[in-house]
Amino acid sequence: MPFRKHYTGLLDRYRDRLPISEDTKIIDLGEGNTPLIKLKNIPGEMGVDAEIYVKYEGLNPTGSFKDRGMCMAVTKAVEEGSKAIICASTGNTSAAAAAYAARAGITAFVLIPDGKIALGKLAQAMMHGAVVIQIHGNFDDGMQLVKEVGEEAPVTIVNSINPFRLQGQKTAAFEIIEELGAAPDYHCLPVGNAGNISAHWMGYVEYAEDGIVPTRPTMVGYQAAGAAPFMRGEMVDEPETVATAIRIGHPQSWDKAWNVQKESGGWFDECTDEEILAAQKLLAEREGVFCEPASATSVAGALRDLKSGKIPAGSKIVCTLTGHGLKDPDTAIKQSTRELITVDATLEDVKGAILNNM
Ligand SMILES: *Cc1c(COP(=O)(O)O)cnc(C)c1O
Repeated sequence: MPFRKHYTGLLDRYRDRLPISEDTKIIDLGEGNTPLIKLKNIPGEMGVDAEIYVKYEGLNPTGSFKDRGMCMAVTKAVEEGSKAIICASTGNTSAAAAAYAARAGITAFVLIPDGKIALGKLAQAMMHGAVVIQIHGNFDDGMQLVKEVGEEAPVTIVNSINPFRLQGQKTAAFEIIEELGAAPDYHCLPVGNAGNISAHWMGYVEYAEDGIVPTRPTMVGYQAAGAAPFMRGEMVDEPETVATAIRIGHPQSWDKAWNVQKESGGWFDECTDEEILAAQKLLAEREGVFCEPASATSVAGALRDLKSGKIPAGSKIVCTLTGHGLKDPDTAIKQSTRELITVDATLEDVKGAILNNM
């Protein structure tokens, strides 16, 4: 039996396409190489005719796609002699920064909106030993502060304005192309700061320009209705949504993302919190795939655009599921309609509970 080589993460796998030299000391946690799962039940049940795949980025080491960019950013920060990194975060960036800083033996400072991040993400930042600074403000306030502190203190900013982040994140497009043997027709993503949609486009363009595949997908970005600056055509000052990972009103990759929209012939749209939570539940109940609310925005939007015909029938679609459902157990339990059944610890009662619910 031929054994598979020990997988050492996406920086090693794609080193030829990343800013890495022979001497670069790679900091990895085996990130990337996430499953591309074909939806088997939802398309039929929803009456849409399409080949839909979800790229389950929740299976990265800290449970979100942020690991793809963070391994690259921390590797470069350490190479440049930095002893500390800093980021503003709606949660997942702080979890990734904390983990990779721990791995590298440097300090992570994370600014999070007080009381507005999912519990799992806070647990991660704390367990990995980051210095967690809660601010009485939202992500956009934190981001502004991080930019100002970065000018004055010896810390490397690892938000997606750090160009190495997007370099790492573009590898998701490479993986998708390699698995499908082609680019999909459409690629749908949730959009917050819009770094990820921009990074995916970089990856798709790179493989097309190098002649690895002939086509590039149409890129579609979905925002939460209460935090949809791309739909409003201007920044939003008080973003609000249950999908806390995309509760962002001042996207850092504004120009880049508009460019992606133009070059790919794609569009932006918005989903209500109800649509987002319904899609999250649908994926969990019908496909066995548990993602966090923000992630489900991609599927909510894609299904709606398929039904309306904006995405034509027969299309091959990839939806990125950006983070794991376990990140935000509170929201999951709150919206579940499943009843917990409590009975006495007797054979009779347990049997009764089973027979009543067959
Ligand atoms: C960061 C994040 C997003 C948004 O990605 P951007 O690059 O900011 O657009 C979406 N979903 C989850 C789970 C995230 O952590």
